[in-house]
Amino acid sequence: MIKEICFANEIIIFARYILMNEEDIMLAYTYIEHGKFELQEKARPEIKDSRDAVVRVTLGSICTSDLHIKHGSVPRAVPGITVGHEMVGVVEQVGADVTSVKPGDRVTVNVETFCGECFFCKHGYVNNCTDPNGGWALGCRIDGGQAEYVRVPYADQGLNRIPDTVSDEQALFVGDVLATGFWAARISEITEVQIGGGCSSRYCSECLRKSFVVGGGDRHWNRWTLSRKRAIA
Ligand SMILES: [Zn+2]
Ligand SMILES: [Zn+2]
Repeated sequence: MIKEICFANEIIIFARYILMNEEDIMLAYTYIEHGKFELQEKARPEIKDSRDAVVRVTLGSICTSDLHIKHGSVPRAVPGITVGHEMVGVVEQVGADVTSVKPGDRVTVNVETFCGECFFCKHGYVNNCTDPNGGWALGCRIDGGQAEYVRVPYADQGLNRIPDTVSDEQALFVGDVLATGFWAARISEITEVQIGGGCSSRYCSECLRKSFVVGGGDRHWNRWTLSRKRAIA
């Protein structure tokens, strides 16, 4: 019975695909199975909820967490989803209840989508948002942004307008590594320590302005050298 339902769904998806106009189809980098990503053609995302926005992606990053999905370290990742959870772009469409952004706005997209209403959101732990589309959903449990377009749930929470004086490239890391570095520096209440030489550590150091480099096992020598330059010891 379950097999029959799945097969029927596949026929419906295929029928919709062949009936689509070319402009409704986009390229999306997709998690297929353990060890395999693939560039696939998919339908452009649409608004599903009144708090959604659809963003045309102009620049996206690759995060180590994408590699974690590929290497099978993220059991929650759903095969078939478009990966990518840090990007900037232009708002194409908004749902009826979105008030903070409008079509045409250049925005950063936050890695975390969150409802803002559950226990964890109210206490600032948006990563643990209990909503089915909450926490790290983009590019893990729902389609992400290594694609031409992405649907962003709770757009009022997760999209930030980019000032005209800031380029896409300058704003790209706002959604994940810069925010992670800032958050790490703040909640750990450290003021003068940086550990490691990775991207998030580097931004943690940038937020602190004063840091020591601890350890030396990072195999990415360029990043390590950059971290040492920023450090005071
Ligand atoms: Zn990430
Ligand atoms: Zn929540």
